[in-house]
Amino acid sequence: MNLLCVQGLRKSFGGNLAVDDISFDLAAGELLALIGPNGAGKSTTFNMLNGQLRPDIGQITLAGKSLLGLHPREVWQMGVSRTFQVAETFYSLTVVENVQMAMLSDDNHLFSMWQRATHYRRTDALALLEQVGLVEQAERPCSELAYGDVKRLELAIAMANHPRLLLMDEPTAGMAPSERNKLMALTRELVTQSGMAVLFTEHSMDVVFGFADRIIVLARGQLIAQGLPKDIRDHPRVKEVYFGSGKTFEQKK
Ligand code: ADP
Ligand code: MG
Repeated sequence: MNLLCVQGLRKSFGGNLAVDDISFDLAAGELLALIGPNGAGKSTTFNMLNGQLRPDIGQITLAGKSLLGLHPREVWQMGVSRTFQVAETFYSLTVVENVQMAMLSDDNHLFSMWQRATHYRRTDALALLEQVGLVEQAERPCSELAYGDVKRLELAIAMANHPRLLLMDEPTAGMAPSERNKLMALTRELVTQSGMAVLFTEHSMDVVFGFADRIIVLARGQLIAQGLPKDIRDHPRVKEVYFGSGKTFEQKK
């Protein structure tokens, strides 16, 4: 059985049909890219998957259980995590404290902003930082990290509740190409180690074709193609949507 099943999902804003009857599946251990031009409906799809937006109609199930009508926190407790930008207020905390905070939240503990999570599950937090290659930076304030390392930290934070499905909306935005590849290679490693599934959006076609197991393509809210990278690369409708006609992904670079 597929981990995630999306069927007939639709969402409109006023008269604007942002997501128009899309269906797709995602298996455990799979890295699925959701691509499409700006305004195609990618973020709207993400927001329906994580409970921030309620679909007009459609079904979303995770391991056979419906996610419809659940609040974001409940969806998260079911094992659907997403990467968030590290909040400004957390920049004064150390790297390991940021992960500890995420773990506190996972365990449903109330915490106050005045009481640091210094001792809480430190060993687990350090193990997670080891996995993302940040353990040497554990005691540094987050504010001192290089941008690429902040992105790794965001990944560690999203992993704190051992998600079955990780949603990443433009995880490499603002990164240099080599850094993007590093972050996605790390994501691939985490997928292999944990067996989780990942759904990600990404503008760099190098990253998409380099790392995705499978690709789904949205245009104006509709799913116009899905398949293996090699099939998407030469798909006539996909090329048309991205380039008008004629050009290929290679020529766009
Ligand atoms: P993408 O992430 O692919 O760039 P979005 O999902 O953000 O696309 O947007 C899809 C369409 O829905 C766009 O036309 C956008 O203007 C519209 N849209 C997205 N969010 C809202 C909103 N909260 N209110 C009104 N319109 C929205
Ligand atoms: Mg978007």
